[in-house]
Amino acid sequence: MNKSVDLVPLSVHDETANLPYKVPDSNLPYAQERFVQEYVLSGNVKKAYLAAFGEGASAKPERAGRDLLRNPSVMARLHVHQHAVSTMTVKSTDALIRELEEMVDADPNEFITIKIGACRYCHGVGGGYLWRDIAEYEAAVNTAIKLQKPIPELAGGVGYRFDAGPNPQCAQCEGEGARHVFVRDTDDVSPGARRLFKGVECNPDGSIKKVLLADQFAARQELHRIRGMHIERSLSVNASVTLPNAKEIATSPDKAMDFLESLKR
Ligand SMILES: [Zn+2]
Repeated sequence: MNKSVDLVPLSVHDETANLPYKVPDSNLPYAQERFVQEYVLSGNVKKAYLAAFGEGASAKPERAGRDLLRNPSVMARLHVHQHAVSTMTVKSTDALIRELEEMVDADPNEFITIKIGACRYCHGVGGGYLWRDIAEYEAAVNTAIKLQKPIPELAGGVGYRFDAGPNPQCAQCEGEGARHVFVRDTDDVSPGARRLFKGVECNPDGSIKKVLLADQFAARQELHRIRGMHIERSLSVNASVTLPNAKEIATSPDKAMDFLESLKR
């Protein structure tokens, strides 16, 4: 035993608090416990000895460290730490696999809801374009004047509501109605889908430009790697998708078309 060992028993609770694993309290003197911890983490006897006892505690720190490892109490304590480390690794691997499985199984479409409602002509008077209200019509007239385009007609009337539902007799959409894409609240999706969620990219006005999702293909590969399995021949590729602002899509057919086109890429 090294004489420079501090003989005050370690109140280990504090000393082990920063370890990446949990161990029961130690009866070892402080420096010995420290030595064991350092040795478990680095696997280097000399480094562990120097960290625990300091420079100059021994002329041959590596030798002193090896002697210490032969001490039955130190050896027993080392086994406690090593066991804790091995369970930690198993547990964290399990957790990682579970996380990856949730990500792989998640449906990115959970983030979007596509609803079908009335198109602008479904319930327009005489099959004409139905404006939401007079304010919307006036805005369209002002835009037309500015762009020196023909003034839009008001013949279809006002009172458009998307949720009025498609009209099977509609000459424009033939009863198919219009599609609106909604981005769902992240609180309302499954845990796996939430793991896929990486954040949003916003426009300068604060509206959502893109919903960023993790790459499920990469998650699946990582899952296979961890399980040590061979990669399947037919992977269903679910690359991350980019969703534009739902409100924008909902109000502009051009943006809806752009969005649908972007899905094909
Ligand atoms: Zn219609």
